[in-house]
Amino acid sequence: MRADEMVSLYFREAAATIDLDERYYEVLETSYREIDAQVPVHRDDGSLAVFRGYRVQHNGARGPYKGGIRYHPEVDINEVRALASLMTWKTALLDLPFGGAKGGVTVDPSELSERELQALTRRFTSTISHILGPLRDIPAPDMNTDAQVMAWMMDAYSSKSGYSPAIVTGKPLAFGGAPGRREATGRGVIFSLDEAMTRRGYSLAGSRVAIQGFGNVGTYAAETAVEFGATVVAISDIGGAVAREDGIDIARAMEHVATGRSVVEMDDVDVIDGDAVLTVPCDVLIPAALGEVITTANQGDIKAEWIAEGANNPTTPAADKLLYERGVHIVPDVLANGGGVTGSYFEWTQNIQQFTWDEADFNDRLSKRLREATNETMNTAQRHDISMRRAAFCIAIQRVADASKMRGYA
Ligand code: NAD
Repeated sequence: MRADEMVSLYFREAAATIDLDERYYEVLETSYREIDAQVPVHRDDGSLAVFRGYRVQHNGARGPYKGGIRYHPEVDINEVRALASLMTWKTALLDLPFGGAKGGVTVDPSELSERELQALTRRFTSTISHILGPLRDIPAPDMNTDAQVMAWMMDAYSSKSGYSPAIVTGKPLAFGGAPGRREATGRGVIFSLDEAMTRRGYSLAGSRVAIQGFGNVGTYAAETAVEFGATVVAISDIGGAVAREDGIDIARAMEHVATGRSVVEMDDVDVIDGDAVLTVPCDVLIPAALGEVITTANQGDIKAEWIAEGANNPTTPAADKLLYERGVHIVPDVLANGGGVTGSYFEWTQNIQQFTWDEADFNDRLSKRLREATNETMNTAQRHDISMRRAAFCIAIQRVADASKMRGYA
């Protein structure tokens, strides 16, 4: 199922649950504004390459638009549109003063030199700069974009508008980045999981955890799970998967992958089939790599009683339904990986005030936000006897509908 069809399905199911007035549907389902622009770049060999770049602002009823920019050869307007609306629901669920947006350029960045990548980023930024602003639209890194790309975006914007660190989040710590932001998504996965497990009478301490994907989200989720007393029994990356019955040494695994090697090249672990990371015996499964990896074909083999979705859309809607029916607890992506945008909010708020918090303060506030949103989601799930995913959408849609009505949009 395409990402836009998936988001639309979840929207409609939740809208029906809360009896949303029909007149809100069009305002909440369609984008406020979409830019689809050419991004010409002079290549190092003197030729001209023309890429396509997009910025979709889905809904800004609750605050400035917020969402990442991805560079990928398969980026298209449908995907960007779906991801922008997912950001509206995520920021509303976490009760952040933001709307939802997403952007991207259809490009394989590995085929560009650093100079070409910088030229592409600057050209794209100036093309969309009239709709950006610290109180209008604040991009962030996403697939194949990083702190360096954000630094170029911020510089391109600031060269016209004056020093504007709050124009992007996910910046380098050297200027305007926030200590704790890099780890925030993975940590947030564990904060929401811990809250949900405790409330349902389970304990993360002593649990056995398997994690697909050992990048930004997977590594910090693993590290935090260990801090909470869990044992990580399997991890994977694009090179394959590894397992160890009595627990993988996560600190060593993080040092290992930081050298650019795959987890399968580690010592003291058993190499297993890549897909087996999803179905190994464990209590908690954390998909933290790709979308649509949990399907009707493999959901029946999943042994975990808990799934915390670090990645976006890792579970297909059909598999989600079957897992819910057989009692597997799913902490949905819109909640579980909301630590990323919450961390971005903390960075933005510090930039606006030109004041910095220390990392312990950042983490305390992150934990509080994620735990509150988890409890609100579970209260709604209990009240309507629905999944946490549908409950999360119910809360978010109601908040955006209320703001739209009060501002006179709908
Ligand atoms: P990343 O690029 O840092 O890491 C991705 C990891 O997945 C890598 O270890 C990679 O080797 C692995 N991987 C890729 N293909 C794989 C495969 N076929 N099988 C197993 N592993 C595979 O990315 P990330 O930032 O950690 O993001 C992971 C997911 O989380 C994505 O779906 C992303 O959209 C989502 N997400 C990330 C953030 C964030 O702040 N980083 C926030 C919200 C959602």
